[in-house]
Amino acid sequence: MGARDSEKRLRPAGRDATGEPAPGTTAAAGTAEAQANRERHPDGARLQRTEQSEPTTSGFSTAAVHAGEPRRKPGNALATPIMQTATYTFADTQELCDHFERRIEREEYGRYGNPTQSIAEDKLAALEGAEDCLLFSSGMAAITTTLFAMLSRGAHIVVTDDSYRRTRQFLNQVLHRYGVETSTVPADDYDAIEDAIRPTTRIFLSESPTNPYNRVLDLERVADIGRRHRVKTIIDATFATPFNQRPIEFGVDLVLHSATKYLGGHNDLLAGAVLGSADMVDGIRGMQAVTGAVIDPFAAYLLLRGLKTFALRIARQNANAQSLAEFLAAHPRVVAAHYPGLPAHPQHAIARRQMRGFGGVVSFEVAGDLAAASRVVDACRLPRIAPSLGGVESLIEQPALMSFYELTTEERLQVGIKDNLIRYSVGIEDAEDLIADLGAALEQA
Ligand code: PLP
Repeated sequence: MGARDSEKRLRPAGRDATGEPAPGTTAAAGTAEAQANRERHPDGARLQRTEQSEPTTSGFSTAAVHAGEPRRKPGNALATPIMQTATYTFADTQELCDHFERRIEREEYGRYGNPTQSIAEDKLAALEGAEDCLLFSSGMAAITTTLFAMLSRGAHIVVTDDSYRRTRQFLNQVLHRYGVETSTVPADDYDAIEDAIRPTTRIFLSESPTNPYNRVLDLERVADIGRRHRVKTIIDATFATPFNQRPIEFGVDLVLHSATKYLGGHNDLLAGAVLGSADMVDGIRGMQAVTGAVIDPFAAYLLLRGLKTFALRIARQNANAQSLAEFLAAHPRVVAAHYPGLPAHPQHAIARRQMRGFGGVVSFEVAGDLAAASRVVDACRLPRIAPSLGGVESLIEQPALMSFYELTTEERLQVGIKDNLIRYSVGIEDAEDLIADLGAALEQA
């Protein structure tokens, strides 16, 4: 493999790491060339997959079951097999050369791709309405590899304040050491976002809805700011999922997911995904070949299996969360309920415009302090106390303790985390049971 391989992986088809055409090439050339290759080599693994896969111009549930899947699978299996291999063989040197000259498309080595992974990527791309998808070993692997691929020394990134703690940590502590500067702005302040942009700004990054307060960004507005300033826009849409919101349709450049959450849906795998144009994803794929943050074939299989019931699960979680949020909003022991589906939510109108459902996470503040919130958490019988969210089992946690344990109340408040805040990830249980359980816990505590 050696130098030639890493060169190919780092700078695919005339791209630099941000997916911009390298000097002397055009955006169309790379895409057209790749397309021509696919057409010339009908035996290539990738072509076989895309040509024979089920039609995807269908409803969301149909796509969740069938999109990306080859019609004929090895051994005539119905389920997608787990291709548990670290490497792939070449018939002869000519095939090796054809591969490196990009005359054929095929697998090469486990760190550069796997057929089970590719099928899961195609299914997710279809669901997200994206040209391409790349899977990773975790959501953080997707975030860190994407940012490594797109930023270099002297670059600047704008990020919104209510974001997953490890994302902030990667920006402010890790990338900072490599000469990348970060500005953090309030999620709902578009003037602040625009004012923070500098000539060196390369990326605007935000979650929507955000973790844990469920703030919602106007995606069209954000994409417009990005286009005007030539800044790439990235939305971590883990909370929403493509069932509820498809940021690319609003002009956002890249979508990130912790697939550990709703996409996998069963609290039994770790995975991450980045989705966007083929050119941008290809640049990130080149960096993944170096960082090695690849998804395991078994995790890719579990993800595919979880995605089959994706539409059913999310519809149920949306409905359960809406019921729970309405119950909480009216409860005398609750001082605030943060859920975009509530008319009182500050961005409810935006959420209605750009989301089909409002997700399965409800955050709320109980009357009282840290201990009062802990008593409510401990009195619940149905949701289990655990980090993570998005699975079929309801989970409950106090962000002040689960994610920010070592900080003082004052330090936590500086990063916006209140002691009395509880994050409830609603599963697919019966809404009446969840409400009765939480109601009893609020009374008892
Ligand atoms: N993004 C968001 C919004 C998250 O909530 C999380 C994890 O909780 C991540 C990214 C990181 O994902 P993972 O745990 O799969 O690395």
